Amino acid sequence: MKFMSVTDKVFSLLGFPKPALLKRYNGHNNLPNNVLVLNTAKKNNKNINQLLTKLRLNIIINKDDRLIEKSVESLVIDATNYQDENNYHTIYKLIHENLKYLSTNARIVLIAKSSQKSLSVEENTFSQALVGFSKSLAKEVGRKGSTVNIIFTSTNKITENPNALLGPLSFLLSAKSTFVSGQIFSINSNNIKIEATINKQKTAIVTGAAQGIGAAIAEKLSSEGYLVIGVDIEPMKAALTSTMEKIQGKAFILDVSDNSAGEQLVQLGKKHNGFDLIVHNAGITRDKTIGNMPEHWWQQTLNINLLSVMHINKELLNRNSINSGGRIVCLSSMNGIAGQGGQTNYACSKAGIIGYVSSISAELSTRNITINAVAPGFIETKMTTKMPFMLREMGRRMSALNQGGLPIDVAETVAFFASDNAYAISGQTVRVCGLNIIGA
Ligand code: NAD
Repeated sequence: MKFMSVTDKVFSLLGFPKPALLKRYNGHNNLPNNVLVLNTAKKNNKNINQLLTKLRLNIIINKDDRLIEKSVESLVIDATNYQDENNYHTIYKLIHENLKYLSTNARIVLIAKSSQKSLSVEENTFSQALVGFSKSLAKEVGRKGSTVNIIFTSTNKITENPNALLGPLSFLLSAKSTFVSGQIFSINSNNIKIEATINKQKTAIVTGAAQGIGAAIAEKLSSEGYLVIGVDIEPMKAALTSTMEKIQGKAFILDVSDNSAGEQLVQLGKKHNGFDLIVHNAGITRDKTIGNMPEHWWQQTLNINLLSVMHINKELLNRNSINSGGRIVCLSSMNGIAGQGGQTNYACSKAGIIGYVSSISAELSTRNITINAVAPGFIETKMTTKMPFMLREMGRRMSALNQGGLPIDVAETVAFFASDNAYAISGQTVRVCGLNIIGA
């Protein structure tokens, strides 16, 4: 029998379910074996079936097929063809009847049209209704370690550009998205071109790479073939050097809030033929209620978490240090979305990141660069070990998956945004929070 800690026992008595063991990417065994494709309209969308064939998944189309399979590992619901009010009933029926066939750690992905002016009021209403539906479903299936997410496409994107959909679909069906649930991925950036990079190793900057989430991102990117230059402050030199040695990366000591940080990175970029990816991960918390917060805590948090990101990007872009086809990924936070007492400075900085990526993305797309943000929920790092005991335990268990995430879960989503799979997504913030109830 598995050992149950005292804390587990207490939370079990309080009615919190036992967290499911999450399946994570282990170098292989990434995609599910089978997928059941369902449709909210009578017309079967052959384009989606064709896409799933490209992923080499065993597509289950009719009930008899399903009986042959032991269980269904993933469910793709094509909700792109809104017909009439019956669609609401259909979506209920599809899930109601098929949920029992789903395995643990299953993936449910809804594909729908994003709200837009060219659609009817009824179509746009249906799109928004699916958001509430999928988040609630995510909270129900999370007990079994399963996730639910939506991909929004604009009207004819699937036929125009199937790869734009295939990228996020393969990520959301995979074990790499294990802690991503209740999220929306919108295919919104159709003028980005994938650059051919034959025989060229890509270079990535990861700030705050000495430990925690930054170290996991550095390791992940290195495993995907990047030369990683890890940035951190002088007191973290030993930890940064050790992290970089493990991945044949390079350590670069720099305080990102230093006035010369942008210029120092421009000079570094010249030695590497420019950068292909910048991950702005460095971040701090300086928690106190605003009445008790010293001015320098306020300013330091804003400087490191938000203003340095904007200053560094401005300098790198002005000096052409980010290559065409490049990617920028910033770290936001669930608390930037929900707010948190004692964190006015932190939440202000992290919400600012969300506004920043969404407002600068159009400008960057003219340079063939995407920018997105990842907003972690409760992730097991040194930052969260500093939390008071009860707050930490509650933070862990208040997600649909009833547990905290790991740094690798954030790293996987950062790596997705950095990859060709996400070339048609920009200006967005996706939470990696197991659908934490805070701010969801
Ligand atoms: P961490 O404290 O473990 O690591 C942060 C790293 O950033 C450290 O190595 C630190 O030295 C470095 N850093 C701090 N100030 C710097 C500066 N001025 N210049 C360069 N480097 C600097 O934190 P973490 O938990 O790994 O968090 C990483 C990011 O994720 C942060 O932006 C954080 O706000 C965000 N985040 C974390 C969580 C979580 O649950 N851990 C939740 C939401 C958001």
